Amino acid sequence: MAFSLTTRKEIIDHLQSEALDLLIIGGGITGAGVAIQASSTGIKSGLIEMQDFAEGTSSRSTKLVHGGIRYLKTFDVEVVSDTVKERAIVQRIAPHIPRPDPMLLPIYDEAGATFSLFSVKVAMDLYDRLANVTDPKYTNYTISKEEVLKREPHLKAENLLGGGVYLDYINNDSRLVIENIKKAQEKRVSIILCK
Ligand SMILES: Cc1cc2nc3c(=O)[nH]c(=O)nc-3n(C[C@H](O)[C@H](O)[C@H](O)COP(=O)(O)OP(=O)(O)OC[C@H]3O[C@@H](n4cnc5c(N)ncnc54)[C@H](O)[C@@H]3O)c2cc1C
Repeated sequence: MAFSLTTRKEIIDHLQSEALDLLIIGGGITGAGVAIQASSTGIKSGLIEMQDFAEGTSSRSTKLVHGGIRYLKTFDVEVVSDTVKERAIVQRIAPHIPRPDPMLLPIYDEAGATFSLFSVKVAMDLYDRLANVTDPKYTNYTISKEEVLKREPHLKAENLLGGGVYLDYINNDSRLVIENIKKAQEKRVSIILCK
């Protein structure tokens, strides 16, 4: 049944009369993802959303599909490996959503700093390796303090040592939710906005 104003009453009737195996409450990325998973198992499922799809946290993220370079500081290599693999899946099935967006990580000489210039290079090399970044346009590099300040003049200059530039991806978070909702609906999950 198409998701439309014209079919709304029909969908509500269906949700009220049919015994569902699973009712998903919330149309953020979690609910949308669960809906797709549920539909692929063939169980009868429905999804209800009280505001609009992606109206909650799923439209308020940093908009990054990052692999979590910071986890490499504590050698959580498996976590990073998993996240970049999942990112590769999103790139493959929805290439219009993640877009390459090189990040600049400033490095400071101060207590508690996540990385030194040396350790950030090691982390970035590993990060590129795990994410299979081979295009020279996107492979990581370090830059001087002067270059960091040229690119980002509002950064604090005191104790700045330089920076690392590495590839992450930017993501249209709410669009990702909508794509998942559309696919779940296509696969016969009954979906309705409560408002
Ligand atoms: C500042 C910030 C930055 C982030 N950065 C990243 C990032 O870079 N990368 C990343 O992957 N993740 C990031 N996240 C995390 C990510 O955004 C969340 O993990 C994700 O959006 C959570 O999705 P959700 O579907 O669980 O929740 P939500 O998107 O909040 O969805 C819950 C939905 O449930 C609905 N709802 C609640 N109660 C009911 C009810 N009783 N009946 C019907 N509907 C109901 C709400 O209206 C809402 O739409 C970030 C989060 C924040 C806050």
